[in-house]
Amino acid sequence: MSIKVGQLKQRVVDAAACVLAVKGYVSPIELLKQMRLLPETDVRLWEKGVYDCLQPHVQGSQKKLAITFDTFTEWVKEGKCVPVTASMRGSGRDQSYELRVTADADPDMERFFRTCYAPADITPRRLAALKKKLNKVPDLVVFMMVRDSAACEECGEEMTRGDFLFREGKKCLCLRCADLDHLEFLPSGDAAMSRRSKKHSPLSAVVVQFNRRRKRYERRGVLVTAKAIAQAEAECLTDADRRAAQRARGAVQREREDEKLVAEMSETILEQYPGCPAGEAREIASHTARRGRGRVGRSAAGRELQTEAVRLAVVAHIRHAHTPYDELLMRGVERDAARRSIASEIKGVVATWRAGPDLC
Ligand SMILES: [Zn+2]
Repeated sequence: MSIKVGQLKQRVVDAAACVLAVKGYVSPIELLKQMRLLPETDVRLWEKGVYDCLQPHVQGSQKKLAITFDTFTEWVKEGKCVPVTASMRGSGRDQSYELRVTADADPDMERFFRTCYAPADITPRRLAALKKKLNKVPDLVVFMMVRDSAACEECGEEMTRGDFLFREGKKCLCLRCADLDHLEFLPSGDAAMSRRSKKHSPLSAVVVQFNRRRKRYERRGVLVTAKAIAQAEAECLTDADRRAAQRARGAVQREREDEKLVAEMSETILEQYPGCPAGEAREIASHTARRGRGRVGRSAAGRELQTEAVRLAVVAHIRHAHTPYDELLMRGVERDAARRSIASEIKGVVATWRAGPDLC
């Protein structure tokens, strides 16, 4: 039993470090999502007001969750993470109420779930931006249907795949019944157009669609007034050249930063794992830099986190490149079981890499 508890605690710490590195903050809900104890689809439906509370959709026994939450609380305390309270408002039409996580509205648990954590060394400017982000009134969300058909629960109109559907509480409505059918659909693709149209539109909604393969919602565009689109178009025309130049400058700058980051990270990896072949160190570094858009190495996250992030990246690389992990998954072996069966192989490679070239 004690070994299992140890494994669970390690999983919590790994997941928390990973979320913090990639998202720039970590919260209990993000942690549960990362640990695959809470499906993103359920979080969406809860935010839309379809579920009264989130707790029943969290998987895992009471004991497992208690250990998870305790470990998380300890971890943020040890890392001196900065707490930020999130307001957690729903994305349905009635945005005046706050979402409830627990069935019995337990004040301590509600506070626990509302508290997000930023890295200890976050700058005041980033902290202010994060506070704003976690407390802004969410956009109205319209779903682009992936089901073959559904009927509007108010007028009975038949809707088919690709149609827009609005959820009001537990009800599915067509756009006309939701009073959104005067808006026009502006597909994603031009960030400036989307941002400006939304700004000019007195009423707007974000359109998302469920991607079945990736098991997550993806943004498809916005619903805005025709007038707002025209206004945005006019604005984009006037400063198109300037924005194109800015984009080009930004791309060059990012590339330069990425290159520098990859070099630095390869060096860090080789310092900590002198036995790692240089080519592989570079591969790990460029993968990590690309994936986290550089957050892991560049940012704000402290030295300790960096060591942890490097360790996670190295272990992930070993798992895929030096063990039969991928084949096990292909054969349908469960993730946890597959990880257990290759754990000693990973340890072996890590030990060799840590020891340096003499022992190879
Ligand atoms: Zn209707």
